[in-house]
Amino acid sequence: MSRLPQPLGRTGSGRILFFTGARQNRSSRILPVFLPFLGCPGHCVYCAQDKQTGHTDSEGLRAILAEAAKNAADLPPCGPQERRELAFYGGTFTALPAADRASCFELLDALRCEGRIRLARCSTRPDALSPAVLDELLRHGVDLVELGIQSFESEALSLSRRGYDRSAALAGCRAVTDAGLSLGIQLLPGMPGSTPDVFLDDVRTALSLSPACLRFYPCLVPEGTTLARWFREGRFAPWTVEQTVRTLGEALNMAWQAQVPVIRLSVAPESAFDAALLAGPRHPALGALIQAEALLRAAENAVNALGRAPERLTLPQSCQGFMYGDRGALKPRWQALGLGPERIAFARDASAAELV
Ligand code: SF4
Repeated sequence: MSRLPQPLGRTGSGRILFFTGARQNRSSRILPVFLPFLGCPGHCVYCAQDKQTGHTDSEGLRAILAEAAKNAADLPPCGPQERRELAFYGGTFTALPAADRASCFELLDALRCEGRIRLARCSTRPDALSPAVLDELLRHGVDLVELGIQSFESEALSLSRRGYDRSAALAGCRAVTDAGLSLGIQLLPGMPGSTPDVFLDDVRTALSLSPACLRFYPCLVPEGTTLARWFREGRFAPWTVEQTVRTLGEALNMAWQAQVPVIRLSVAPESAFDAALLAGPRHPALGALIQAEALLRAAENAVNALGRAPERLTLPQSCQGFMYGDRGALKPRWQALGLGPERIAFARDASAAELV
């Protein structure tokens, strides 16, 4: 796997500054509205949104919106500093029938009018973005569009039967930002055709498109999907937890140094989904393991850039809980860097790490 150049900052006094994701993960409080499979042109080979969200596509849009309105009615209006956000997740929002999108916008407009939300986002596919629909999103005050890109590699997209290629994925991202909307990019490391190198190239491409945020969803094998059949037939093997931690650790460090927040590192826990999993890199602390690997790689790059034995590393306090990995497994690698516990300090309000 290639080691990527990191934008480390060397100050005049020979100190190296680098980022660790501290302060990047502060998101607004989100009021999610799940629209499983609604608007989708078909069921993608790995997708089990009904199990993932705990909602079924037979619930119907009317029932989903009624429940969301009921939940929102209990919320007080946003305070002056509050950034509460309505999020239409799942499905393909921009390919919903126009009348269904209008019903969603009705809810959005009402909640914004009442001051219960300030921001809004939706998720969709990169090949479902006409100028008219982007204009509609802007008119209704949608701020951010998350695109389920999954990969920018045409072969992986084809093997996963996504129905678009690299150029369409790139065009979709550019259409969002050209329209003046913020862009979120979702990637699916380990999907059919995706290797660690393909995924790291995907991350480089994603970062070059000026996204407001990324999400990484390591590919899992839920029962009832085409992928489950391929897995049983020996035509697909998911990544291991170790491979996922190594590769996503590298990717997360790239995003940290580019100062782009990665707002998910695995599928959120959901009992129905976990019960239906056949295989794949599932671990209760996967996000923390990936963060630990990313931090260590950032520190390794910083020590290399320093070019001498390090004297002291000061980390943001938020790193303290995860830096040594599962039961201290990464301690020997920190020691090997010359950074035993006696050389590491934590600073409560630091937004970057400092190595001297
Ligand atoms: S992956 Fe996206 S487009 Fe495919 S079925 Fe799931 S929600 Fe729909």
